[in-house]
Amino acid sequence: MEQYNPVKHKVVDGHLHIEAWENKDGVPFTHYFEEYRKEMGLHAIDIAALPSGYGADVTSNLWCAIYKLLNKNTFAHGGLLYDQYPLGQSLPSDMDFVTQLHELMEIGFDGVKMLEGKPTLNKTIGKNLLHKEYDKFFAEAEKLGTHILFHVNDPKEFWDESKVSQDVIDHGWFYGDGTYSTHEELYEQVYAILAKHPTLCVTFAHFFFKSETPKDLEELFEKYPNVNVDLTPGWEMYISFYNNREYYKSFFEKYSTRIELGTDSTFPYDTEAFCWLVDRVYRFVACDDVVKAFGDRCEAGLNLSDEARDNIICKNHERRVGKEPKEINKNALVRYFNKYKHLMIESDVEKINKIFNEIL
Ligand SMILES: [Zn+2]
Repeated sequence: MEQYNPVKHKVVDGHLHIEAWENKDGVPFTHYFEEYRKEMGLHAIDIAALPSGYGADVTSNLWCAIYKLLNKNTFAHGGLLYDQYPLGQSLPSDMDFVTQLHELMEIGFDGVKMLEGKPTLNKTIGKNLLHKEYDKFFAEAEKLGTHILFHVNDPKEFWDESKVSQDVIDHGWFYGDGTYSTHEELYEQVYAILAKHPTLCVTFAHFFFKSETPKDLEELFEKYPNVNVDLTPGWEMYISFYNNREYYKSFFEKYSTRIELGTDSTFPYDTEAFCWLVDRVYRFVACDDVVKAFGDRCEAGLNLSDEARDNIICKNHERRVGKEPKEINKNALVRYFNKYKHLMIESDVEKINKIFNEIL
């Protein structure tokens, strides 16, 4: 792995995940990102829960809340729960999405993470993003000004058998067999949500998969004041950025208040990999160093102006999510756990009980 250096400015990594109780060496999740944060000199991190899909459940929200409670300079986005897969047409009355939004905010989450626009999860929960339950949820989030970190879509070639790589197929991300929403349908659903909720504060992960069609983003930015994108790779994004360097340099300057740094680094993977990743994203924005980066290309960063750089690496997160992380309300957290623990596997309930006994 090539060299990386601590960052030289105030940086927030706005997009991380926790996926396990401990890593392969038995190190628990509870303070894991601190080594990464300190080694790289990051000001703060923001962990996004993924309680639905990939065999996850409400435990993911609890991990994030516990991490936030135990570590300063940590923001977290909670996620919506689904009682079962696949989901039927109606949720139990005490699990509607608006109630869940209020519960997450009461606990002290700084926003909501949605993976519901990723084709796999979108298919599993069997729910069109225009479902009336989501509509109520988006209306409430818009009213409260709650920040949503939203994964919608995936690269277009994931639907195209002639272009999709074996690696992507092995991940289960080939969507061209007719059983998934199409690339266009997912965008259309989100455009309809924005048309109905035009001041929704939302950051679309992975540049909204628009690096080949950035004019779409320009239109969205002009139309909707609180629409943003993040820079979590997606290596394909960076290939487009490199191939259209001059265009993107002015795009990033012009829309610097709409773009946010993030890495998607996920516990239990290696801290060294997290460091490398944030170094490359940071350098892409802030420097013109020629280093081996995404897709193994040696490329110089955009070396943006100080103002644009600071917007992207820190200030946009402060503006959208907050300068300081919200405090965790311990009573609300316990209430939440007690309400939803029947959705968890028993050994996870025991582990959470043990942690609560130690820290609450
Ligand atoms: Zn992510």
